[in-house]
Amino acid sequence: MVVRVSVVERILSANDRLAEANRARLDAAGVFAVNLMASPGAGKTSLILRTVRALKDRWRIAVLEGDLASTLDADRVAAEGVLSVQITTGGECHLDAAMVQSGIEQLPLEEVDLLLVENVGNLVCPAEFRLGVHRNILIASVPEGDDKPYKYPPMYQGVDAVVLNKIDVLSAFDFNLDYFRRGVEALNPGVAFFPLSCKTGEGLDAWLEWLEGGIRSRE
Ligand code: MG
Ligand code: ZN
Repeated sequence: MVVRVSVVERILSANDRLAEANRARLDAAGVFAVNLMASPGAGKTSLILRTVRALKDRWRIAVLEGDLASTLDADRVAAEGVLSVQITTGGECHLDAAMVQSGIEQLPLEEVDLLLVENVGNLVCPAEFRLGVHRNILIASVPEGDDKPYKYPPMYQGVDAVVLNKIDVLSAFDFNLDYFRRGVEALNPGVAFFPLSCKTGEGLDAWLEWLEGGIRSRE
């Protein structure tokens, strides 16, 4: 029991050291990096595509796509004309700092302003692995239900922003926005909150403004 705990701690601290090295490389190159986490189907790739389309004329964007298998999402992002690197985790259900390190080694970092990292679709362990990015973002979506902050508190506690996607279908679901918001606030008071729809575009401006504020903070 005691041995097992110490092994886990050693793995995490090795990850933290790599995350710090990633951060140093990103900072040296002037890259603003964000980690997008969500359960499968919440809209990570959709938000990335919307963000890329809106900002690619103003900023140089690159994307790291973390997936268990396949290059489907990376191909969709590359079709937008931005740099896209697929990280296939080979069954691992989260990204760790070593995977991100191998991803950024394939990018011309000096030519990148914004790096979007799409984590593996999972609401549990991505929260435990620091990657070295500047902001961690959780994307929830209306069809998942309004009780997710109450069921997956660690994911909500550590993030810098919560996006609630698919608000265009609010009226079709029994989703209480106030209940959801109270759950988020109890875990992470004052966290940036962006209700939006990647389908209709509603609410996207506030998200893009927040993100661009981060990019500018690197300059
Ligand atoms: Mg995806
Ligand atoms: Zn995992």
